Amino acid sequence: MKLRFWGVRGSFPVPGSHTARYGGNTSCVEVRCADDSHPEAPRLILDAGTGLRRLGKEMMQGEFGEGAGTAHLLVSHTHWDHIQGLPFFAPLYQTGNRFHVYARQRDDTHLRTVFALQSDNPYFPVPFEAAAADLEFTELSDDARFNIGPVQVRCTRLNHPWIAIAFRLDYDGASIAYVTDTAPFRDILIERQFIRQPPKPGDPLHPDDAAKLKSMRDGVVRLCEGAQLVIYDTQFTPAEYAQRPHWGHSCPEDAIEIARDAGAKALMLFHHAPERTDEQLDELLARHRAQLVSNGNPLAIYAAYEGMELDLTRSGVGEILPAPSVPVRSGTTISSKPPRFVTAPEPSQELPTLEPSGPFPVVPPPKVTP
Ligand SMILES: [Zn+2]
Ligand SMILES: [Zn+2]
Repeated sequence: MKLRFWGVRGSFPVPGSHTARYGGNTSCVEVRCADDSHPEAPRLILDAGTGLRRLGKEMMQGEFGEGAGTAHLLVSHTHWDHIQGLPFFAPLYQTGNRFHVYARQRDDTHLRTVFALQSDNPYFPVPFEAAAADLEFTELSDDARFNIGPVQVRCTRLNHPWIAIAFRLDYDGASIAYVTDTAPFRDILIERQFIRQPPKPGDPLHPDDAAKLKSMRDGVVRLCEGAQLVIYDTQFTPAEYAQRPHWGHSCPEDAIEIARDAGAKALMLFHHAPERTDEQLDELLARHRAQLVSNGNPLAIYAAYEGMELDLTRSGVGEILPAPSVPVRSGTTISSKPPRFVTAPEPSQELPTLEPSGPFPVVPPPKVTP
């Protein structure tokens, strides 16, 4: 399985110089199973955050541009940061393409309606019915198991407002678990609700809630068992989590515990906080890597960035390059391995000076520093 990360942020997109190396787009991971010996193996996409737009542009260069492509979109849940790329996904508007969308069943609204609503006229000019591609929706239970061609898919429930599900993909001896978005399974049970007054972490739990959380955690550990790679929601630091346990996100410390209990080989920090800068992510990763080494924990740890590619085989995750040292300029096609990144503008390249007009002074945009 070959993976490419097209969006690695949580909550909302954050373009700008502070996020240029890890990227500012929201959740989207491409999984390609086809190779020379299995040319028919499926193409999968995990989540449809704003990263999906650029993936769509690249897909249009191949069979999807000719209306001959098929892809399977697995959606963890339908919060904006996991679906907002879909209306801007060019292959959706090409006759002949086929898309299978899988997400958790809601009690009240069919999955198709949930997706169609975000293209409704108060929000978007092109109605969902204008999508010329063939679209098929499959509603999933929390613990669904199914096959997409030769790829085995398993799901389990997560601890998130209005509920999200995690996916595990197994193909040709390789396995990944995609676990986003979720709070840890110890302080608060989050169901179909937004909790206004969260308990303090460490407050005693109702025994029923504790039992539900334990069963949820056991499900996540089983899902990640022995996986070559676990991609995990690590939006928070422990201090941030203590302020907002009811938002439904975890810390790297929680992900490391789950990966350890599951005997997973590698962990990918993912769904980065929008306010986390490139430098802070570098530091976060280095600190956790050093801690794992000093604890004698063999788990490999990485932090996902836009454009990261990896080749997952039964023997492991292959070579993973660190985040680029210079920004990836928007619109760059990411296709080479190892990736080649466009160099940031030289500091000497002056931006045009704008003349003030009217009564308001016009401040030129800040310079991008590499
Ligand atoms: Zn999210
Ligand atoms: Zn969410």
